[in-house]
Amino acid sequence: MTAPVTRIDAIRYARHERNAAANFTTPVDDHDLPMPLDYFVWAIHRDGHPPVIVDTGFGDAAAAARGRTMIRPVIEGLRDAGIDHLAVEDVILTHLHYDHAGSLGLFPNAKFHVQDAELAFATSRQVCDAPTRAPFDGEPVAELVRKLYADRVVFHDGDEEFAPGIVLRLAHGHTAGLMLVCCETARGTVVLASDAAHLYANITRKLPFPIFVDEADYRRAQERALELAGGSLDHLIPGHDPLVLACFPAKDDIARVDLPPHTAISETQ
Ligand SMILES: [Zn+2]
Ligand SMILES: [Zn+2]
Repeated sequence: MTAPVTRIDAIRYARHERNAAANFTTPVDDHDLPMPLDYFVWAIHRDGHPPVIVDTGFGDAAAAARGRTMIRPVIEGLRDAGIDHLAVEDVILTHLHYDHAGSLGLFPNAKFHVQDAELAFATSRQVCDAPTRAPFDGEPVAELVRKLYADRVVFHDGDEEFAPGIVLRLAHGHTAGLMLVCCETARGTVVLASDAAHLYANITRKLPFPIFVDEADYRRAQERALELAGGSLDHLIPGHDPLVLACFPAKDDIARVDLPPHTAISETQ
């Protein structure tokens, strides 16, 4: 029997040059060495269905405002992966940070899937605190609320089957309602971890990324992501790691993460 998920693309659209110190909650020995972030959206393919898009990325305005380098607009990345954005019916928003939920307008025919806790938090009094607010942009959150009133938002509460072969699992800590997307592929379960782990190093060093609503929950979220990946780094796809393009079969800044990596991730750590 073929696996329900036939292909998963990790489509890179932006990059941020930075040093290691910016990527961990506590000081690290290699703090002054370069450790850039890549920015991705993901596409999950199944036979007989349009692809499910995971996260929507950001556009030029957010890139300029936050000093990120656009590699190519998300819409072009989708096109390069052979995906017609107008045919997309479902978009999973792992969480609502600016870099994951910023281009909702690209999908005029889609429903947007989000955890109850995520949208509740992003529209709550917590946002009055400037540092808490910083990784969110108001306009995409407002746009999601407008889509809610247009019957285009689907809420999820904790762990839920999204479709055969695709399971959503709550892994809060980085945000109040971050969800992992677990996909059944020919090589087993592949966990799209999003910002439950920005980098493989966040997991191997057991040090989360320094943006969180609850640090202890964030550690547990990282552990949960690895557990769901069967303890295998090769089966866990972090939200921002350049190793994804370096280690998995890739072309045009698009990595096939349903396939096994050609270089084991454990060899890079
Ligand atoms: Zn985030
Ligand atoms: Zn992110």
